[in-house]
Amino acid sequence: MELKGSCHCEKVRFTVKSHTPAPFMRCHCTICRKTNGGGGYCINIMGLYKTLKVQGEEYLRKYQAMRDKETKELCGNIRHFCGECGTHLYAYDRKYADYVYPVASCIDTPLPEVDPITNVYYILTKDKANWVVIPKGAKHTFDNYPDLSLEDWHIKNKKLVD
Ligand SMILES: [Zn+2]
Ligand SMILES: [Zn+2]
Repeated sequence: MELKGSCHCEKVRFTVKSHTPAPFMRCHCTICRKTNGGGGYCINIMGLYKTLKVQGEEYLRKYQAMRDKETKELCGNIRHFCGECGTHLYAYDRKYADYVYPVASCIDTPLPEVDPITNVYYILTKDKANWVVIPKGAKHTFDNYPDLSLEDWHIKNKKLVD
């Protein structure tokens, strides 16, 4: 399906094709905590990089975070923001060059709903802020990274779309 996304001030708009649009993975890592508003986590979905079309590219600002401040290891993701309103739009990682990872909350197209107890994956919970509450009974929580990829989750949960 084609997804439309935009920042809050609408200076940046984009479209991208995605067969994995379900917003099921909540990342609580130290980087997502601070770069994604007040919720304490970020949800990225996945699109096909070669289909990404961006309007207002001149407003984009990029940020490559340091994953580990002691070893100075960089995070592979390059996060793209609107320089005008600060909305985090998507991340791109050269290691996974065929894909782009839009932030679910800036997608204007309705996305599939995911049950927070049975199907949402809560990841990097070792870095979670203490006040962020994971619903009681949540079936999939991970101290670190999850045991399957975005695409595998969509196949397993029959949410893959054309
Ligand atoms: Zn903006
Ligand atoms: Zn994260």
